[in-house]
Amino acid sequence: MQSQPIKRVVIAGGGTAGWMCAASLAKLMGKHLDIQLVESDAIGTVGVGEATIPPLLTLHKLLGINEQEFMAATQATFKLGIEFENWKSVGEKYIHSFGTTGQDHWAAGFQHFWLKGQQMGLAKEYGVYCAELLAAQQNKFAVLPNMGLNYAFHLDATQYAKFLRSMAEQHGAKRVEGKIDQIDLCHQSGFIKSLTLASGRVIEGDLFIDCTGFRALLIEEALHTGYDDWTHWLPCDRAIAVQTASVEAPRPYTRSIAHAAGWQWRIPLQHRTGNGLVYCSRYLSDDAAKQLLLENVEGDVLTEPRVINFRTGQRRSHWNKNCIALGLSSGFIELLESTSIHLIQRGIVRLLQMFPSTGIVQADIDEFNAQTQHEVVNIRDFIILHYHVTQREDSPFWRYCKNMPIPDSLSHRLELFKETGKVFKVPNELFGENSWVQVMLGQGLVPQQHHPVADLMSEKEMEHFLSQIEQQNVRKVNQLPSHQDFLQHYCPAQ
Ligand code: FAD
Repeated sequence: MQSQPIKRVVIAGGGTAGWMCAASLAKLMGKHLDIQLVESDAIGTVGVGEATIPPLLTLHKLLGINEQEFMAATQATFKLGIEFENWKSVGEKYIHSFGTTGQDHWAAGFQHFWLKGQQMGLAKEYGVYCAELLAAQQNKFAVLPNMGLNYAFHLDATQYAKFLRSMAEQHGAKRVEGKIDQIDLCHQSGFIKSLTLASGRVIEGDLFIDCTGFRALLIEEALHTGYDDWTHWLPCDRAIAVQTASVEAPRPYTRSIAHAAGWQWRIPLQHRTGNGLVYCSRYLSDDAAKQLLLENVEGDVLTEPRVINFRTGQRRSHWNKNCIALGLSSGFIELLESTSIHLIQRGIVRLLQMFPSTGIVQADIDEFNAQTQHEVVNIRDFIILHYHVTQREDSPFWRYCKNMPIPDSLSHRLELFKETGKVFKVPNELFGENSWVQVMLGQGLVPQQHHPVADLMSEKEMEHFLSQIEQQNVRKVNQLPSHQDFLQHYCPAQ
């Protein structure tokens, strides 16, 4: 396809996606590559995307990032999960935590024992059997040896891009300021040859990474790759974001509060709170959304509310010719489970693993696209679950979500859980059994049966089994300081 070796990598766009990619390529392959990143200060970044999930720690380790320096630079706080309020029904809430609930048995997941324990009148709330969830509920946190809490971060997206930029530049990536005006294609192959900036400067490359956000300048405007639209399953298409002053000690979890036509996020940072409302424009106007959000934030409003339009779905190919889309240019599932930054990370790792040093071959492209699509579709199903499995019917939006047809892959999972209590993680899937069970139970889907292995326990054995897990978690959480105290010790004010 393109037999020339890949030496010159051009990254278009310098948001979280662009700088994550530049920092990773420069740090890990910088000696072999010439890396240029083009971004336009006049256009700016989307500036949201502040909640992450635990695999980010792996990328940070790979890049040799010092956690305390990173947290100080991005005003980050710790995150143990997400609290969903009013999702199952108005007034009810649950936490989807990053932890493992209970102990698994070789034949059956913990949920089977918990279901049996409930029948016997012995089991407490499902969350009691998860240390991360208990810690989140009590606003406690620490990174302690042998504690093993599974965590992620809330971070300031603009500061994170700056932090990664300085890393990328230290490792040799070059930043070019300017607006991309034109994308020049090779007549024969249709591959991208160069980008022409408004200043007239031409940036040539062998491999182009499209990180231009929702604009998708390279992958879509130039290469017309196409988009699979998922708005019939994920109908929200707008967000309105605003920052407020903190009014309480930061909680170690994201809050997701459902409203009549969407949901609101609250993300606590060290120095402020990120807020926003995600909504469906079919059921709520921008003005009404703004009013609803402002009525439901706490603390002084620090920024002008900003409407962001989006269309849920994914690019038909994430890699097309000599262009790979990362971040918002590759698609957008929904921010509900903070998976966007994670998918950028996965795209980068996949690119590193499959880097076409000696030239681009179609087999690489096909493999990259197949793996990415498989990953994205499983996340999509997990997000649809939150909207679809609900008892809410109090507004046209929730009635639509509750009654909409869903993908067969999700129907199968829901049916399996409802009938048998079973959940299976498919290979290379992001969300494991623990996540699926927490959210399905949290949304009100209770299995009709449990695995017969749980029936083998006598009442005494079941009581002992459940209480020793609970006691272990209570002991663990009792050792923890408050999240706020730990932050002050871990990231003292500069
Ligand atoms: P952007 O930040 O939009 O960057 C695009 C870059 O391209 C900019 O540098 C811009 O200047 C440049 N550019 C564009 N056009 C040109 C041009 N013509 N010439 C030169 N440069 C150009 N993800 C999470 O993981 N967790 C979250 O909590 C989360 N919350 C979100 C909330 C909302 C409301 C939205 C919309 C998204 C959220 N996301 C979240 C997704 C997350 O924001 C993005 O994945 C992440 O910020 C990456 O964005 P990006 O770099 O792809 O695009």
